[in-house]
Amino acid sequence: VSSQRIVVVGADATGMSAASRAKRRAPEIQVEAYDLGRYVSYGACGIPYAVSGEVGRVEDLVVISPDRFREERGIEVFTRHLVERIVPAEKKILVRDLAAGRVKERAYDKLVFSTGAEPITPKGIDPGLEEVFFIRNLEDAQRLKSFLAERKPGRAVIVGAGYIGLEMAESLAKAGLRVQVTVRGERVLSSAEEEISSALAGELKRQGVELVTGAVPKATERPARGGVRLELMDGRELTADLLLVGAGVRPRSELAEEAGLKLGVKGAVAVDRLQRTSDPDIFSGGDCAEAYHRLLGRNTYVPLALGANRQGRVIGDNLVGGKSEFPGILATTVTKVFDLTAARTGLSLREAREEGLEAVKVVTKAPSRASYYPGSSPITTCLIAEKGTGRPLGAQMVGLDGVAKRIDIWGTALSAGLSLEEIGDLDLAYAPPYSPVWDPVLVTAGVALKKIS
Ligand SMILES: Cc1cc2nc3c(=O)[nH]c(=O)nc-3n(C[C@H](O)[C@H](O)[C@H](O)COP(=O)(O)OP(=O)(O)OC[C@H]3O[C@@H](n4cnc5c(N)ncnc54)[C@H](O)[C@@H]3O)c2cc1C
Repeated sequence: VSSQRIVVVGADATGMSAASRAKRRAPEIQVEAYDLGRYVSYGACGIPYAVSGEVGRVEDLVVISPDRFREERGIEVFTRHLVERIVPAEKKILVRDLAAGRVKERAYDKLVFSTGAEPITPKGIDPGLEEVFFIRNLEDAQRLKSFLAERKPGRAVIVGAGYIGLEMAESLAKAGLRVQVTVRGERVLSSAEEEISSALAGELKRQGVELVTGAVPKATERPARGGVRLELMDGRELTADLLLVGAGVRPRSELAEEAGLKLGVKGAVAVDRLQRTSDPDIFSGGDCAEAYHRLLGRNTYVPLALGANRQGRVIGDNLVGGKSEFPGILATTVTKVFDLTAARTGLSLREAREEGLEAVKVVTKAPSRASYYPGSSPITTCLIAEKGTGRPLGAQMVGLDGVAKRIDIWGTALSAGLSLEEIGDLDLAYAPPYSPVWDPVLVTAGVALKKIS
């Protein structure tokens, strides 16, 4: 281990977690990390709040600077360095210093492939137009903020209503724009249960955001009087001052593929539970790689921040001779859309059925606090459970209050493999400002038990 050099390709959540953990475990090793961007270790998740103005500056989202990595952790970080090739046969990378324009070779003993994901560009949208925005990193956020400050746009069209599309709808509305959100089908957050989607659609409407359904992009163009026009397949046209694309992401795995690494689910880098790729000296994790799902018992693709950080730590252990196994994800998420919070953990009804499980959905509505206490409002829960056994498989929730607290109870229960009886018996905290005596989690477990048995 002592004279080893670890090279990290992509220096954000996964890569820097791996680098930091490895260096802590074995301070004598040499670790260097390359990133094509100006920033490393940034919180992309905070971008919607930096654009809306709730977080002061985009740069405030940087968690640790390259200098601090060097001084405090002994990790060399090279920003504006694009890794162009990985040559596993010679255990080297070719990396372009974007400022100097030079390509250099670096040898590695072990490599971390952590390039993240990239936004999908839907057919018909020209990503080269000045008024078209994608949100992936801090540079994207800065470009958008400068555009807002300089051009003072009045109207935005958002293509796609996944988490990023919805959070950016709120963000741009708070920044003072009139916002339209387009979806291909009928629903926002179409991966969620219908009850969740319709609550979110109601909230958008209440907040003055227009939802345009059945909207399949055909073309984008710049009208003579400025702005951007989105033409839809059915002939409708939407015009705005800016168009933001939130149509999902795909793993950025081309370099890995060119290097001969095996790809898996959705073209993500295939990994085992130790986060090893098909090359014994290359590890991968985060948004460019598959993730092991606890309930499915196999790999899937769910690009989220905590999973990326956790996988990074597993990689860090294993880079220096450890045998850490990634325990798995449950795809637990929480998102704020104006005043509503939507959250989920585990499988949806569709996912459970696709897995061949005989699953049912139980929907409950229960107050977030004692009904007499100010601020109490209903939480809708969709519980997915296996028919017959009653095994809980997933939970989704939406409400104005107390959703984030409850989804973590469901996530914990799913992790621990608790039965509905055991969940119904949990000794949860109660005081009127925080919950009713019978918390919505306990209510849902009870209702589900009755319905399923
Ligand atoms: C707007 C937004 C909001 C989000 N909100 C949430 C949230 O609320 N909760 C949540 O769980 N997740 C959220 N996410 C997702 C979360 O940011 C990611 O899951 C997480 O950043 C993944 O970390 P990663 O290290 O795998 O990839 P990334 O963070 O994407 O980092 C990969 C890095 O690799 C670099 N890179 C790529 N290719 C090369 C190359 N060839 N050479 C050099 N460098 C390269 C990139 O520049 C990038 O810095 C959000 C994402 C966005 C964009």
